[in-house]
Amino acid sequence: MKPFILAETNWKTIKDQTIELAVLPWGATEAHNLHLPFATDNIMVEKIAEEAAESAWDKGAKIIVLPVIPFGVNTGQMDIRLNINMNPGTQLAILNDVVDVLCRHKIHKFLILNGHGGNDFKQIIRELGLKYPEMFICSCNWYQSFVNEEFFEKGGGHADEMETSMIQYLSPDLVLPLNEAGKGEGKKFRIKALNEKWAWAERKWSQVTIDTGIGDPSKATPEKGERCFNEVVKKISNLMVELSRADINNMYE
Ligand SMILES: [Zn+2]
Repeated sequence: MKPFILAETNWKTIKDQTIELAVLPWGATEAHNLHLPFATDNIMVEKIAEEAAESAWDKGAKIIVLPVIPFGVNTGQMDIRLNINMNPGTQLAILNDVVDVLCRHKIHKFLILNGHGGNDFKQIIRELGLKYPEMFICSCNWYQSFVNEEFFEKGGGHADEMETSMIQYLSPDLVLPLNEAGKGEGKKFRIKALNEKWAWAERKWSQVTIDTGIGDPSKATPEKGERCFNEVVKKISNLMVELSRADINNMYE
């Protein structure tokens, strides 16, 4: 039993435990090319949260990891079979209820650890910040904590070389052989600004890619996944330690 994992711990342990920081991993349930499991984002974000919390705990962080929320925003993918969409408004309602509990129990620091590109918690955090001014709420997209080119030959962002390597390392039994994967070819917008990312529109996923993947997974290996996983765990663990120690009334220098 790990005392920093809420799903594993018990009332005997938790009732007197000092907790500075709560961490909520958030994923998605969606198709990942032909070869990766629907829970790809959940598996990665949960393992990262657990390993990072363990290392933060060993450095004295007072931390608790909540169970992963398995559904994310998939509004652009509703024609892809059994992609389970959770609307941003539902996410706000869930976060409101979680923050209400944390606030009542005087756990005033809260990190949403995000593992899915369709989830965007910034505006929700702004709104909850108005309602719960005593809380410090932040979000972190773990997949932005490292430079893709330092670990992988190809990018893409969805069921690509990185995600395939990670699942090959973390849950090898759940990956089909790479010769059964699609090519992960993603189309670009015809409008330049949308590709340059200074203008934004949601992509209609099934018009962008035929196998649901974006990014060539063919060069993936578990060794690459392990190297990247360890780097991400180090980064997220440091963030957890800093948040646990932070004085939320004195955050700027
Ligand atoms: Zn993913």
